[in-house]
Amino acid sequence: EGRSEMAALVRDLDEFNYPYSLLTAQEAAELEPNVRVDGVDRGILYAPIERWADGDLLSAALVKQAVEYGASLASPVSVREVVTSGSQVTGVATSDGFLPAGNVVVAAGTACVGLLAPLGYQLPLGRVVGILGVVSAPAGTVSRVLYPGRYHVRPTSDGRVAIGCRDMDFMVDEDTDASSPPSWMNQLLEMASPDCPALSGSQFEELRVGARPMPADGMPIVGPVPGVQGAYVATMHSGVSLAAIVGQTVAEEITSGNVSPVLEHYRPDRRFSESYTP
Ligand SMILES: Cc1cc2nc3c(=O)[nH]c(=O)nc-3n(C[C@H](O)[C@H](O)[C@H](O)COP(=O)(O)OP(=O)(O)OC[C@H]3O[C@@H](n4cnc5c(N)ncnc54)[C@H](O)[C@@H]3O)c2cc1C
Repeated sequence: EGRSEMAALVRDLDEFNYPYSLLTAQEAAELEPNVRVDGVDRGILYAPIERWADGDLLSAALVKQAVEYGASLASPVSVREVVTSGSQVTGVATSDGFLPAGNVVVAAGTACVGLLAPLGYQLPLGRVVGILGVVSAPAGTVSRVLYPGRYHVRPTSDGRVAIGCRDMDFMVDEDTDASSPPSWMNQLLEMASPDCPALSGSQFEELRVGARPMPADGMPIVGPVPGVQGAYVATMHSGVSLAAIVGQTVAEEITSGNVSPVLEHYRPDRRFSESYTP
């Protein structure tokens, strides 16, 4: 990060009482021996509680746990519409038939928009396409998420390394063919190799392209859908980091009927006056 970005980050972390420390180059080198930090004299920001999660593994683990607690899983199945009688939800029409339900939580990422529109609710949610490049790497090249500059780098769950760079997201759209990574993907490796010399012999193996569900003001949208009894929406960017806490809070709110103060600022009926640019 540049000095001003770093100073802004430190201010934000202080404001939220988020634990972090500023490491010397030598301390950072002990944590990540394969990353070149010599010459970095302004301190390296380290947030010890931060982790990364594989979205597929995390969602599979959460589903497994829910089933163990007594939930029924219908998969693979596609929801065609949320069915109502008057202004009350009665269930969902699926590729596998009708499933009756008095409460339906629409948590379908960018597809929430299309599922909620027939209920008369225009969800203020956009799609922000992004990339991740996955490269071969010697074992233990990096062991945590690192932001050495314009890009981020982290290990993957299968022993490779993933590199992402927001400045390069505009190079793709949702129709980009991810099965044959374009040559410009090598720029990611060229960016990372000077900081991480272990990557100098690496090859590009996979391009991942996805669309982030991005609320108009950048904040999660979680709560009852205005005007439709029993319909509930839960969508956000950073939905991997927030999945467990949002899932737990929403489940408690719906089953107990007690309104959660944690979700107060994220309700669908708030004013979306701010315009967020990711
Ligand atoms: C480039 C990129 C970077 C990201 N970085 C981060 C990050 O740093 N931190 C983070 O926490 N998150 C990150 N995310 C994740 C992200 O932005 C979302 O917040 C997250 O994926 C939302 O999870 P979700 O389960 O709500 O929606 P999704 O992950 O979109 O999952 C929705 C699911 O609903 C299913 N579905 C859709 N329509 C229907 C239907 N009609 N019937 C049945 N099923 C349906 C879909 O198949 C899908 O399985 C990133 C995403 C991208 C693309």
